[in-house]
Amino acid sequence: AYVVTEACIDVQDRACMEECPVDCIYPGERMMYIHPDECVDCGKCMPACPSEAIHWEHRMPPEHQDFVEANALFVREQ
Ligand code: SF4
Repeated sequence: AYVVTEACIDVQDRACMEECPVDCIYPGERMMYIHPDECVDCGKCMPACPSEAIHWEHRMPPEHQDFVEANALFVREQ
């Protein structure tokens, strides 16, 4: 799945939501989150993000690794 990371915090541009074909990007209080089970790995959200906050989980910069769990946790708590 693709994952929203730190650069989204307090930005929440939402351009990603418009690109996502399966509507699996959800707004949280301070950032967006991607549902890891609903994401179909199409990659369309990534270039749409003006903050470059979205990464593919398998090419996640190590400093953003915590956001893989953060995205999964957020949608589980909804
Ligand atoms: Fe949606 Fe595709 Fe981004 Fe997954 S990779 S969140 S399916 S736009």
